[in-house]
Amino acid sequence: MRAVVFKDFHAVELVDVPQPGIEEPGDALVRVTTTAICGSDLHVVHGRIPGMTPGGVLGHEFVGVVEAVDGGVRRFAEGDRVVGSFTIPCGACWYCDRRLFSRCPDQRVFGYGSFFGDVAGAQAEYVRVPNADLALHGIDDSMSDERALFVGDIFTTGYDCASEARIEKGDVVAVVGCGPVGLMAILGSWGFEPSTIYAVDTVSQRLEMAQSLGAIPVNANDVHVPSFVQDRTGGRGADAVLECVGLVPALLDSIDIARAGGRISVIGVHSDQELELPLNTTFVKAIDLKFCGTANIIGRWDDAMAMVSSGVARPDAIISHRMKLDDAVRGYELFERREALKVVMTP
Ligand SMILES: [Zn+2]
Ligand SMILES: [Zn+2]
Repeated sequence: MRAVVFKDFHAVELVDVPQPGIEEPGDALVRVTTTAICGSDLHVVHGRIPGMTPGGVLGHEFVGVVEAVDGGVRRFAEGDRVVGSFTIPCGACWYCDRRLFSRCPDQRVFGYGSFFGDVAGAQAEYVRVPNADLALHGIDDSMSDERALFVGDIFTTGYDCASEARIEKGDVVAVVGCGPVGLMAILGSWGFEPSTIYAVDTVSQRLEMAQSLGAIPVNANDVHVPSFVQDRTGGRGADAVLECVGLVPALLDSIDIARAGGRISVIGVHSDQELELPLNTTFVKAIDLKFCGTANIIGRWDDAMAMVSSGVARPDAIISHRMKLDDAVRGYELFERREALKVVMTP
């Protein structure tokens, strides 16, 4: 079968690899009908995720049709349309028992190499899904592949960030960073009925997309963002700030944008080891700072799927490029150069 594989640092290629089959109890084999390139695929390609060997199949966002299941699979059968979670929790540990799936110490990730369980990725014609009863979600016939795709990763990630911010009806929300996850955080936030969402970025194309999703765009190159938000909230600041960047300046800005007693939910992936935190300001403002870590996809995806199927959230609006899997190398190049906001591919 055709598959997109890690070739070397900064290089992917399309090759023929053996079709996967059922290997473990609980496995399903899924024929992929739509897959996508995610920002975290680039982390693998650039060597920031150790343990990926050349020839490893990439990708963790997919929708498909169940082709075969192991006898231990209870919830799915051949012919079912499904979306996959990008992480595969063990389903049996202390955390999984409490539905804190993203804290599972034994979770695996599709297409992420040996430190994440060595599970082949989904940018291919077929993907083997371990622990299928947990790692797959059914899709209604009426829902398109493109819409369902987002529930397995970035929409539910944005929704998780919004949930952790405990947004209340009428709140003023600020989303810092309008890349794909930030845009999904905007969509996820609407489910909690805030009065206003300010979308902060410096890239006009992203701000335009944020605006089309109902947020008020704020270009951080043009205005001092904390003052901008304070001027529109009686001098207070935002009730909830969703930090979707993962860089120190964005986190520090978030502390300034939040009102006293405000909540900050951090979904941007931080890799710096240290931060000079303005402790006094953070303490006196009584900031409630929540790091989300990897999003709890499986713990949240019933709610996320309901938002998408009801039309409250239309995550497929951010798809900028549709192509065949055969064009994946070009898709990665476009995504890398930030010419593409979201690339979806069909085998
Ligand atoms: Zn992803
Ligand atoms: Zn577990």
